[in-house]
Parts: sequence; structure tokens; C-alpha cells
Amino acid sequence: MNINPLGSSNNPIAYQHYRDLPKGMFVESEPSSSPVPTLIELNRTLLEQLGIDESWFSSDQGLTVLSGGGAPTDNPPIAMAYGGHQFGHWAPLLGDGRAHMLGQVVAANGALLDVQLKGSGRTQFSRGGDGRATLGSVLREYLISEAMAGLGIPTTRSLAMVGTGEKVMRERVFPGAILVRTASSHLRVGSFQYASANLDEHSMRALSDFVIATNFPDLVQASDKYQGLLNVVVERQASLIAQWMLVGFIHGVMNTDNTSIVGETIDYGPCAFMDEFLPDKVFSSIDQLGRYAWDKQPGIAYWNLMQFAGTLLPLLHVTLAEAETLAEQSLSQFVPLFKNAFQSGMRRKLGLEGDAEVMAKFSDRTLLTMAENGIDFTVFFDQLTKVAGGETDEQLLDLFEDSSVGRAWIAQWQAHRSEGVATLATMRGANPAVIARNHRVEQAIEAAVDHDDFEPFRRMCRALARPFNLEQSGRELQNPPQREERVTQTFCGT
Ligand code: AMP
Ligand code: MG
Repeated sequence: MNINPLGSSNNPIAYQHYRDLPKGMFVESEPSSSPVPTLIELNRTLLEQLGIDESWFSSDQGLTVLSGGGAPTDNPPIAMAYGGHQFGHWAPLLGDGRAHMLGQVVAANGALLDVQLKGSGRTQFSRGGDGRATLGSVLREYLISEAMAGLGIPTTRSLAMVGTGEKVMRERVFPGAILVRTASSHLRVGSFQYASANLDEHSMRALSDFVIATNFPDLVQASDKYQGLLNVVVERQASLIAQWMLVGFIHGVMNTDNTSIVGETIDYGPCAFMDEFLPDKVFSSIDQLGRYAWDKQPGIAYWNLMQFAGTLLPLLHVTLAEAETLAEQSLSQFVPLFKNAFQSGMRRKLGLEGDAEVMAKFSDRTLLTMAENGIDFTVFFDQLTKVAGGETDEQLLDLFEDSSVGRAWIAQWQAHRSEGVATLATMRGANPAVIARNHRVEQAIEAAVDHDDFEPFRRMCRALARPFNLEQSGRELQNPPQREERVTQTFCGT
């Protein structure tokens, strides 16, 4: 492992373990420095959670490094190589075109976490891009990834946001910014696809061994460790997609290069939480065929995992037919794991007990009724939790277009639900009172970008950090958009 021998004691980014990856998986790359760097936001809560002192991050030296003006250690920053299927089309070489891996910090619990700059300038992988990110896209990723963390869903985190003082040209000119992002790993399914397509089998093995040693150390000694790796990646994706869907989240760009090997939500682009429930809902302006719609996400994750399994075949067994059988065994776990995670999540949301199959039918019918009545996903489950807590069902009933349908549904729910104190706590913990609603995200971005007012962004960050226990000050964030506030599509606006 590469530890910085010169790393000053207060500079916590002291590792660069990706240098242990096979040659070809990364290139050294210097970030571009920012003309007028400003620390817009430092995520002190995250640093506290990690048990890392904030003083270096808020120092001048910290700002210089986080704005691209210098390496944190004597190990130069790197850009990582990866390929991937984008909307189903194979791209053999994508790579970090605007991101620089500074290195890793070690949290108080001993875990190593990547610290990466996104929007920090061109790299060898930039192709035609400018290597930059707009303040709006950085704010968007910051807010939504922190909302995801608040919901308890695995995700990369946002450690800081730095203004560069540069102008970035998109549909118009925007202020430039850098997101400082942490993750348990930045390796993706696309990293394995890249190694498989461009490097030799020895490198594939070294990449897999690296991931096993770094992120899944329990597998190091296993005789079938590569199948163990495939199994755990399948398990994490099945669980992740179920958790997204249970809060109405649509990732929007589930390409294999945006599919994390450790099962964290990564690369927040045109993603969104749904308002009214529609199973085939899509937000992304570039997803015209609805490939990554809410209800397509499990199928797409499975397809992405098939691509991952394909790269591991030479490691699974010396005979191709045997290797394929082993890969199929692992992949066949995806559907039952996803269904179980989704259905048990729905039971928690609805406060149900009893026969799992009967409850699954009821929860499917519930989703259908919600779609037919255009009911807001988050408001519905929040109201239901309130009814379970003893409030009247008047407001719940108001959500249904047809009150007789509403009354019939509530009667069925009353017959199926479990009434204990524990159930109420379970429902509360499964049903956020507030989500990062798209129109609110857009309003917060507009205030910051056009009026230099970061208060709406900060207010949202505070409320979304504790989405299950909403304080009075966050109540306005709960409401679905008025007709004129609706955001029907999210543009990449990168
Ligand atoms: P994404 O859609 O953000 O996952 O990015 C897909 C690919 O495009 C990755 O290889 C990115 O590094 C690259 N990319 C995105 N935006 C830029 C940019 N402004 N400059 C250079 N490369 C970019
Ligand atoms: Mg990406």
C-alpha cells in the first residue's frame, strides 16, 4: 500500500492504494488549479461521522488541494480507466474525464475512503469534454447524495463543494465548481469490463484480488473467492435497487460505468425522486425510450451484473462451460434477493404482518391503486404512518381521486395491518416524511447559481439529513409541486 511518507500529520489524505492496481487501470493526472478557489461547503457532519478532524479541510492548504492546486501527498493524483455500456452501447474506453482521485483517508473505524475531485479539469480520458462541472450539477449531486445517506441508503458522499472562479460553458455560461466526493470504492462494473477487454487475465485477477482485499476481506481466504465476489456484488445491487425503489428513486443513468462494485449509489446525473407514483416514470431528458424507468431498474441491474459476470468467467473456472454454470448460479440469486428485499420493504412501509404471499399481492394492488389515482408516493406513506399512529384517515382519503376506492383500500389495509408499537416505529423508519423533491432541488440550485443565495440549499441539506424526523422548519419541503412548479424532465446540465 502506498502511504505518503511525507504526508504532514494534519493532512488526512495519506494513502493512494489504487497505485497497487495493474498498470493500465489508471494514469497519473494533475488536476487544473482554480483561479479563484472558494470553499462553498464543507460537510462537517460527515467528517464527524468519520472521526476525522476538520482543521486541514478548512485550512488554506486544504482549499488549495481540494480546488485542484496541488497534490495532497507525494503520490500524484490519478484518473482511473474504465469502459462501459452506455444505454446498452459498448464504449471500450471512458475513464475519468473530469475527475481526479486524490487518495484515501482512514476513518476512525479503520475503513479507507476515497477522496476524489469531480470537475477538476481535463485528463487523458477527456475526449472532447472540458473536464469541468457546473455549480448546478455539483449542488445537485451534493444534495441528492446526502439525501440518500440520510435515508440510510448506500451512496458515495459529498465531503465538500469548492467554487473554482471559472466560467463553464453549457447551454449558457455557468459558474464552475468541484465536488469533493468520498466512496468506499470508485471501481465500477465498467472497470472490470475495461480490464477484461483491454488487459490480460493476470491483470483481471489482480483487479479482482484488489477489490477482495480492499472491500471484501472476508473472502480473501475462500477457495472460491471470485464466485464469492460475484455473489456479494449481486447481493449488494439487489439490495440497493430495492432500497431506491422503496423511496421512489430513479437513478436515470444506470450504465455499467455508473454501477459501483461495492453497491453504493454513484454518479448522480439526471436522477430524481418521484412525486406522484407512476411505475414507468422517467426524468432524464436523454432517456427517451424509458430504458431506466423506475420499474425497469431491477432488470437493468441484472443486465449490468451479467456483464460483470462475463468479465469474471476466466477466473471462475478453467473450462468455459463450468465457469458459465457458476456464473449463472450466482446471477440466479438476483431475482429472489431483489423480490425479497422489495417485498419486505413494502411490508414495513405498509405496517403489514401475515403470510408473505398474501401481503405481496396486497402491496402490488396498493401500488396499482396509487398509480391509478396519481397519488404522491412519499405523502401517501407518510400519511399512512400518521394514521397508524392514531390520526384520522381524512387526509389519507383525500389523496384518492375516487373516495370510494380510498375507503375500500383503507378498509383492506386495516384488515391486514399489524397494530403494535413496534410496527409504528418500523413504519416511521421506512417512510420518510421528506425527500429531495425535484422542484425543490431546482429551486435551491437556481437560488445559488442565479442569486448567490445558498440558504435554500443549506436548509434542504439540514432537513434531508434527518428525513424521518422532520422538524417544523422543514415542513415546506414536504409538499408536492404545484402545477407550475413541476419539473418533468431533468437535463444533464453537467
Ligand atoms: P457520466 O455521464 O457523468 O457518468 O460521464 C460519462 C463519461 O463522460 C465519463 O467518462 C466522464 O468522465 C465523461 N465526462 C462527463 N462530463 C465530462 C466533461 N465535462 N469533460 C470531460 N469528460 C466528461
Ligand atoms: Mg459516470
